[in-house]
Amino acid sequence: MKDYDVIVVGSGIGGLTAAGLLAKSGKSVLVLESHDRPGGYAHGFKRKKYRFDSGVHLISGCGPDGYRGGQIIYKVLQALDVEHCIEFINIDPFSHARYPGLDAALPQSVEAFCERLGRLFPEERQGLRDLTRLCLQVAEEITVADEIMACTNFAEAHRLMPALCKYRKATLAEVAREFIINPKLLGLFASNWPYLGLPPSEVSFVYWSTMLIGYMVDGAYYCKGGFQHLADTLVDGLARHDGEIRFKAPVDKILIEKGRIAGVEVKNEKFAAPVVIANADIRHTICEMIGEEHFPPRYIQRIKKMQHSLSIFAVYIATDIDLIEHKLAHESFCFQDFDHEKNFAATCNGEITWLSITAPTLVDPNLAPPGQHLLMLTTLLPYQAAESWQQAKPGYMDAMLKLAGKYIPGLEDHILFIEGGSPATMRRYTQNFQGAAYGWDVSPSQVGPTRIPNQSPLPGLYFAGHWTSPGGGVYGVSVSGVQAAQKVLGIRQQAEFWRLIESIGQA
Ligand SMILES: Cc1cc2nc3c(=O)[nH]c(=O)nc-3n(C[C@H](O)[C@H](O)[C@H](O)COP(=O)(O)OP(=O)(O)OC[C@H]3O[C@@H](n4cnc5c(N)ncnc54)[C@H](O)[C@@H]3O)c2cc1C
Repeated sequence: MKDYDVIVVGSGIGGLTAAGLLAKSGKSVLVLESHDRPGGYAHGFKRKKYRFDSGVHLISGCGPDGYRGGQIIYKVLQALDVEHCIEFINIDPFSHARYPGLDAALPQSVEAFCERLGRLFPEERQGLRDLTRLCLQVAEEITVADEIMACTNFAEAHRLMPALCKYRKATLAEVAREFIINPKLLGLFASNWPYLGLPPSEVSFVYWSTMLIGYMVDGAYYCKGGFQHLADTLVDGLARHDGEIRFKAPVDKILIEKGRIAGVEVKNEKFAAPVVIANADIRHTICEMIGEEHFPPRYIQRIKKMQHSLSIFAVYIATDIDLIEHKLAHESFCFQDFDHEKNFAATCNGEITWLSITAPTLVDPNLAPPGQHLLMLTTLLPYQAAESWQQAKPGYMDAMLKLAGKYIPGLEDHILFIEGGSPATMRRYTQNFQGAAYGWDVSPSQVGPTRIPNQSPLPGLYFAGHWTSPGGGVYGVSVSGVQAAQKVLGIRQQAEFWRLIESIGQA
């Protein structure tokens, strides 16, 4: 049985981030991944001459510059000495929002965003500006929240982080209504809600602000070559620091000895380590891989009460239609209604009434042969929307294709390749419960101090990924990987952690 300092279960972006940083810090690290490639929801697949992303198609946090502490993915790649091996393509506008009678680009920078949307709703210009600036203030305060909370009291925290403290329990809808009256502008402002899986009335305003400002200020990026390249580059970074990874290695059990972590078991083979970082679904990790009896009952109750996010239905298409002629953007959110509560309710009923259309070949033509394009159509769906996804899949694919045809006339006659990915597919490739796209929901009661923290009460067990703090999306899980590594090293403040990581290897 080989010994390691740290074993990471799963090679999603959260797991790879934690693994790479700990390898860099000098720990011996092994990553075990059940799939045949790294990345989790960021993995890619090839069909014929096409390179598809399975899920992830736009992220933030990749630039060398950005709002304070925002460029987390760039920092991680730099720490692993692989930032020069990858190219991120800046996407500005970061999204297009399409509604009946209104088609709006959502540009980067607070000024350009307010100017563009303000032109459409001149009477709401001031409210829009104030709301967007508030999002910026919250996003900036959150980057220092951990450090402030580590060394000060609550009253002082209120003084230093007034917006975060005031709005920590608020939803996007509650805050947006303080500033904007027109329901169409409220809908337009919230157009990216599918990125967080919850409608404005349920999503945390704080998490929303981090996401929106991440794309708007730090920048929105596509990874040249597809997001598999991001995962592969993180694996290269891990290897550069002597970390190991094994594929087709599903961890069945996490071993406990004398009340603490002792290692893991994969197909009857054992690997010893005093520290395990689970990048897998937390409920599965605790209840199936370890056993509830090793945790305090209150912790188990809390885990069982947490609400998970919806899954996603995806359609992967290759086409020879001229998307440039159709003025398509990298990503368009296409809604029939400005009311996202209605859109979400239809989604929860298993109906296809809206979708996002992503066309990565517009920014990275090498993903397909010349003259051809790739499209990914996505919509949120609950796993329970179908009894048998095998039977339901063709019907959902047809519905998505028909809806996309409204925005790309003639698409149905120009299909060179088409394949569907249902919530069951999402579950199969990542083992996330019911194919949850973002781990636990990011509602106000499940983010911040009330999310399941990166360090568990079982000595030696840590978490990285979208089931732990801070939350879902590639930006969020990258932060979670940093936080998990920091906790394993027992460092209280993130600034100190980065000082340590950056000092390694310097003369
Ligand atoms: C279709 C889709 C599109 C998305 N698009 C975007 C986007 O554009 N931008 C964005 O920021 N976010 C997007 N998201 C959300 C984002 O992909 C996730 O929140 C994030 O990638 C999750 O990362 P993670 O580190 O938690 O690991 P996951 O991606 O959940 O991967 C977990 C890994 O652990 C492995 N694993 C699980 N159990 C075991 C075990 N027992 N043994 C060994 N290995 C195991 C799995 O095989 C998997 O590789 C999307 C999600 C989906 C589903």
